Amino acid sequence: MKIAIDYDDTITKSESMWAVIISIIAKEGHEVVIATAREYEGSDIASFRKKVYSLIAYDIPVILTRHFPKMDILQDVDIWIDDFPLGITHGIVGCMYEPCDSVKKDISNV
Ligand SMILES: [Mg+2]
Repeated sequence: MKIAIDYDDTITKSESMWAVIISIIAKEGHEVVIATAREYEGSDIASFRKKVYSLIAYDIPVILTRHFPKMDILQDVDIWIDDFPLGITHGIVGCMYEPCDSVKKDISNV
């Protein structure tokens, strides 16, 4: 199983918690990737990866989706964990305009 976890406002909410969760997932034999809309990794993500490395002894990949829909970049993910689900299907730039505004209105009634 492949699990993609967002970084900003997801992992950053509790880096120590996510490091442990990622280590458990990895030790169960599943694949974890960090899927971020960022264009560059940044020292904060690099530092987080080192934390995870200290627990599982290998480096997890970081996929930079550069504001594009994450599903367009990573097509083989089984489970997405993200504070902004529309970014998975529509990307960040795409969500500043239609059709995301209409999608947001549609889901606001749910
Ligand atoms: Mg996020």
